[in-house]
Amino acid sequence: MRLLPFLIFAVVAVMILLPTLRRLRLPARPLPTTVGDELVKDPVCQTYIVKSRAVRRTTADGVRYFCSEQCARLDMGR
Ligand SMILES: [Zn+2]
Repeated sequence: MRLLPFLIFAVVAVMILLPTLRRLRLPARPLPTTVGDELVKDPVCQTYIVKSRAVRRTTADGVRYFCSEQCARLDMGR
């Protein structure tokens, strides 16, 4: 049987390649973002921004979120 080593090689190759292919395919699917995905309103320009990416300012009234440093500065200047 000359075919046997080839068959064994083929089976082993598939066993090694399949999990690798599955792992490569996984990151293509966007993972659901659960942390910091909350929307907050910019009190200066009334724009909604994702909390995790907003510019954060802690004031006497609490934490305020802004779309940019410019808006944060404008609010402080009030
Ligand atoms: Zn803004």
